[in-house]
Amino acid sequence: MRYAETGFNLEIDLSRGNIERVETDPRDTELYLGGLGTNAKILWDRVPPEVDPFSPDNLLIFATGLLCGTPATGCNRTIVSTISPQTLLMAFSMMGGFWAPELKYAGYDKVIIRGKSPDLVYLWINNDKVEIRDASHLQGKGAIKTAELIQEELKEPKAQVASIGLAGENRVYMASIEQGRSSASRLGIGAVMGDKGLKAIAVRGTKDINIARPAEFIGLCNEVLQYIKVREEKPIPGVMPILAGLGSPQEMKVHDEAWHTQNFMWGNARTRRKDFWNKEVEEKWTETLENSRTRLISCYNCPMKCGATLSVPGLPTYMMKCFSKLTYTMAAYSDLDFGFRIAQRATEYGVDGFSTPQVMAFAIELYENGILTDDDMPGMPSDNEGRFYWLLDRIVRREGIGDVLANGTYWAAKEIGRGAEAYAHNNIKKHEQLPLKLSMLNPVYFLMYATGEKINITQIEGQFPQAPFATMEEREDFVKDWIQIPDEKFKQYLLDWEFRGEHSNPYYPTVQMSCEIVDWQETMHYIDDALGMCAGLSSFPLKPPYHIHNYPKFISSGAGIDMDEAKLWKAAKRYRTLVRANNIRRGMRRKDEKPPENHWKKRFPDLEKELLDTYYKFKGWNTQGIPTKESLNELGLDYVFEDFEKRGVYSDNGDTPSKETSEENEKKQSGGSEP
Ligand code: SF4
Repeated sequence: MRYAETGFNLEIDLSRGNIERVETDPRDTELYLGGLGTNAKILWDRVPPEVDPFSPDNLLIFATGLLCGTPATGCNRTIVSTISPQTLLMAFSMMGGFWAPELKYAGYDKVIIRGKSPDLVYLWINNDKVEIRDASHLQGKGAIKTAELIQEELKEPKAQVASIGLAGENRVYMASIEQGRSSASRLGIGAVMGDKGLKAIAVRGTKDINIARPAEFIGLCNEVLQYIKVREEKPIPGVMPILAGLGSPQEMKVHDEAWHTQNFMWGNARTRRKDFWNKEVEEKWTETLENSRTRLISCYNCPMKCGATLSVPGLPTYMMKCFSKLTYTMAAYSDLDFGFRIAQRATEYGVDGFSTPQVMAFAIELYENGILTDDDMPGMPSDNEGRFYWLLDRIVRREGIGDVLANGTYWAAKEIGRGAEAYAHNNIKKHEQLPLKLSMLNPVYFLMYATGEKINITQIEGQFPQAPFATMEEREDFVKDWIQIPDEKFKQYLLDWEFRGEHSNPYYPTVQMSCEIVDWQETMHYIDDALGMCAGLSSFPLKPPYHIHNYPKFISSGAGIDMDEAKLWKAAKRYRTLVRANNIRRGMRRKDEKPPENHWKKRFPDLEKELLDTYYKFKGWNTQGIPTKESLNELGLDYVFEDFEKRGVYSDNGDTPSKETSEENEKKQSGGSEP
């Protein structure tokens, strides 16, 4: 019997209209767990580097995590993996909400989509009955509207629907997949869904999931709930508000936005407004939030209520989570009311709330500097807010300049030329980053920015405080109940960390300590992504309820896999290496692993080189960031080594340029429309 997982995937070939229920190999679960882990293995096995993001042979995998659908609090993530049109590397975006547990209850661990449908379709998974249905009447409909219409059409209000809007249909590189109160937004996975002609996947499941040792498992779940309660009553003092508690940053609850608005950059990630937040702004924004927020909401089986339904006067209700509260507002130098209004439209279009505002701010900056002109922007309004709406509409329709901007700042700058590349200054691996520009290099963040493959700093940071505590008293207070650490030495690292002097950034944490901290932080994220756990209860916040010491017990009693800390760490390292192997095979090398030039004002080239050299070695990678034969063998990834050898990967010293043409550009140059 299979526990926690169903043991079956759905394989859908949209070119042939074929649907198959395929039993999976339990040995893969032992080696790669589930979710991201087994996704990385499937992409490795079935999507070689010759396959482009918009090829019918690219796969789009919707995966549940190993523990999704069990009573484990907050375990509800859907991990969507494919090859990204933005980075041309492996994408693995996640969404919370309700979709993954529903799929488990329908009897499947993953839905694997291949091929392309000639006409727009949606998928209806209703326990054992699976259908590919016509979606021509949904063409152009908003993502949220689509979900409503499908629920009505199916007469199944409890169906969970993951859908794309116009942006996905038009293969906009920042297109998201929206679902309930959540979305999988980064890296253009919505564009791949649109390219496959798939408007939505609706799921309804009413089956049970087996738990290996139910009493023990429920006991662990109760401990987690109890700990959440304790942590909620005892926020961590001396850290920024979003790190004091648990959950994803509680943006829908907080009124105090001093920290974000004064520390993050406005516009095209260039301007800090240090004195922005004052009494008047606070009152206005508080009023806007209070008047728009209908109620706070949670994802499946979670008490944290990180999201909210918003009813902005005159607009349909929609749901918002996290930092998209501020991204549009700050990109446009506007106020919260504008941010909420444009986010409603953007959610229906289905676009990433991080990249899209930056792309629009980038376009305005190019216009203001004469690189884009009135000829490029015919009819663009003169007011700032009007310009953002105008740009958003054109981007999602790929109209005029919108067709260029729809490929993100990196590709757009290349296509526009005339010096535009200097304005696409906030990218790593061809993708927009958080709008942050800081002063002193932080060695831990340097490594995370450079080597992270999820391309989002929030998806690799966490566990270790972002800055030292001011006093020894605060430090001692913090470390005394720090049970989540994998090794006692981390306490000393924190105790010795100072704001100034010998033990401060950039030379402290030392190079070795920085490697260990980053490895710990990243490993916890990768474990979450295989189990389907929300990072907001595990890898992101300080002192979370899930950690390396209780996770093995959850896996053993839930999935019936004999697990301990060392085995779990090794499994995470195995599929983390496999993610890298997928990217290495696609040409990623050391030259791609660098934060934006202007991310920190004070840079230290020798130290940065030493950090990267040491971290690569620490991870078992060579000087180009390629996993070595020894490290691959140790992880049982001999097949990766054989493939690397066959392809001459080890002799590629990084001088070979990575692919420098976006697929949309190639299409235009060849004069084709659909491949
Ligand atoms: S912590 Fe927040 S984002 Fe995470 S599962 Fe709970 S409600 Fe969702």
